[in-house]
Amino acid sequence: MDTRAMAETADLHIAYDRLRAGYEAERFPTLAVRKDRLKRLERMLGKYEHPLVQAMSDDFGHRSSHESAMFDILLSISEIRDNRRHLRKWMAPRRVRTRLHFLPAKSRLIPQPLGVVGVMTPWNFPVYLAIGGIANAFAAGNRALLKPSELVPATNAVLARAFAEFFAPEEVALVEGGVEVAQAFSALPFDHIIFTGSTAVGRKVAEAAARNLTPVTLELGGKSPALVTGSADMDRAAQSVAHGRLANAGQVCIAADYALVPGPQRDDFVTSLSAAMRRLYPSWQDNPDYSSIISDRHFDRLHDLVDEAEQMGATVIRPHGEGRDRSNTRHFPPTILVDAPADARVMQEEIFGPILPVVSYDGLDDAIAHVNAGERPLALYLFARDRGERDKVLAETVSGGVVVNDCLWHVPNDSLPFGGVGSSGMGAYHGQAGFDAMSKLKPVMYQRRLRATNLFYPPYGRVTDLL
Ligand code: NAD
Repeated sequence: MDTRAMAETADLHIAYDRLRAGYEAERFPTLAVRKDRLKRLERMLGKYEHPLVQAMSDDFGHRSSHESAMFDILLSISEIRDNRRHLRKWMAPRRVRTRLHFLPAKSRLIPQPLGVVGVMTPWNFPVYLAIGGIANAFAAGNRALLKPSELVPATNAVLARAFAEFFAPEEVALVEGGVEVAQAFSALPFDHIIFTGSTAVGRKVAEAAARNLTPVTLELGGKSPALVTGSADMDRAAQSVAHGRLANAGQVCIAADYALVPGPQRDDFVTSLSAAMRRLYPSWQDNPDYSSIISDRHFDRLHDLVDEAEQMGATVIRPHGEGRDRSNTRHFPPTILVDAPADARVMQEEIFGPILPVVSYDGLDDAIAHVNAGERPLALYLFARDRGERDKVLAETVSGGVVVNDCLWHVPNDSLPFGGVGSSGMGAYHGQAGFDAMSKLKPVMYQRRLRATNLFYPPYGRVTDLL
């Protein structure tokens, strides 16, 4: 470990100990305390919105300020407000049915804070993914320690400043660092870890957490299909898929990673898709709405994926014409791949860029078999007007979430839990699902003087002989 990593790891332990001491001093924050923390979180984002939007753009090379404002700031505020609005209800003891033979006892679930929650985040939505987890942690009465990605240092610096201004270090803190600090972080005995990132790293975090029996919520990635059926409105599907692939230049965990389209409609779909991409983003190099690729390494990887697929026989379509711009802003042109072979890397790995393979299928069973042959995806986007087709796909596929006839919009829908399944993650958060994940829902049975269970005390036989 070099001296910088050693210093960062020392800072990590200091920050953790402070939060732990904060929890010991106040284990059960009241509704008012929790609401105040959520309010300060919202005020913090209000005050720091512009520096954060600028910092995200600095980190990316160029990040659409609209996307930053919408997906990072507004969604964070919406999550905070949703938590505040429902907090009283979520915190209240929950009635559960008591079975007849235990009556007149009562059964309740009493939510309690867990303690100190570790929040580990990637670079692609560096504000939303951090604040979403922290809002749920605060609502549930916990303290939070954030370990953001090292690829967004400008954003991290602004967030650290903002936390220091609005919060005591016993409430929330941010620690920076690379892999060594991340490893030390995931080895700490948190009461819960919420990790958002790649499947490979998620596995390591789960292993480290298991040594402390720390429960984890893993928000991972994967290849989310857009399944277009014969009954779909092709133009609308193309428009949604184009947005679902090109928002944040494709660097979205729930992006449409590839499209499955019936063979006879494939060419029409590709034509509509190209047109939709040009309509949404009339240009890609000098378009303020079109974000950059986060690093040279990620940029080169995307080129390699396309080059390999082309060499293996795929047809490459660039709706805006040819071009590469690895220069200062690392813009990658929207790219459609037709007939990419199944063993090409682009069909095996999560793409995380503005490249969309379009795969044709023969019948709906074929398309379902294709989805089920891969790892369970984080999202599935189903485009179908026919109810029978919709029901069949919903019943016969497993995924973290589904949007019927659109892409991406289930995430800001706080009424739905958000999370993956299998290699796309475990557990869920957002709204009440996040509150519950970061609480202990303590089961409590209230006995009465009059109780049938007296019949089951020794000496045995009075009742058990009758059974
Ligand atoms: P990543 O897994 O490389 O990094 C995520 C975090 O893990 C970072 O904070 C990093 O510092 C830390 N880390 C790195 N090595 C570690 C180790 N050995 N032990 C512990 N921590 C370590 O992911 P990324 O490249 O930053 O983000 C892209 C991935 O995140 C994609 O796979 C994407 O699908 C996924 N993602 C998922 C969601 C979701 O909500 N499901 C959201 C956004 C991104």
